[in-house]
Amino acid sequence: MTQHSGGSSESSPESSRESSPAETTPAAAPPENAQWQTPTPWQAGLKARCPRCGKGRLFKQVLNLRDNCECCGLDYKFIDAGDGPAVFVMFLLGATMVGAALFVEFTYSPPLWLHAVLWLPLTVLLAVVLLRPIKATLIALQYHNKAEQGRLDRD
Ligand SMILES: [Zn+2]
Repeated sequence: MTQHSGGSSESSPESSRESSPAETTPAAAPPENAQWQTPTPWQAGLKARCPRCGKGRLFKQVLNLRDNCECCGLDYKFIDAGDGPAVFVMFLLGATMVGAALFVEFTYSPPLWLHAVLWLPLTVLLAVVLLRPIKATLIALQYHNKAEQGRLDRD
C-alpha cells in the first residue's frame, strides 16, 4: 500500500514503521533445508530418524537422544518433547491392555498370577517399542512446525 502521512488512525503510527516486511515472513522451510530431502514427520517418526535429513539416527540407545545428527549435523538441542510421548503411550497402552486383560479373564479365566506374568512384561515391552516411533514423530512434528516455548516479543 502507499504511504498516507495524513491518516488519523487511533493506534500509534510510529511503532508500525519499525518492522520491515522481511521480518514477518511465515515460518516456511528455511533455506538450509534445501539440500536435504526432508521427510514427512510420519516417515521420520516411524523410522526414528533425523527430522531434517531423514537419514541420521535420532536415538543413542533405546530412548536417549543423540547430541546431533550424524548425517546432516542438525543440533538436537532444540528438541523438547516433554511428556508428550508418554501421554500418548499411556492412553494407547492403558486402554489396549485393560481391554485385553478383561477379554482374557472373561474368556479363559486364568489364575491371577498368570495375568501378572502375562501383562506386566508385555506392557513394559510394548511401552518401549511404542515410545520410540511416537517420540520421534513428535520430535519431527516439533521440528517441522518450529514449536517452542511461548515467549513475548521484545520491541
Ligand atoms: Zn540429519
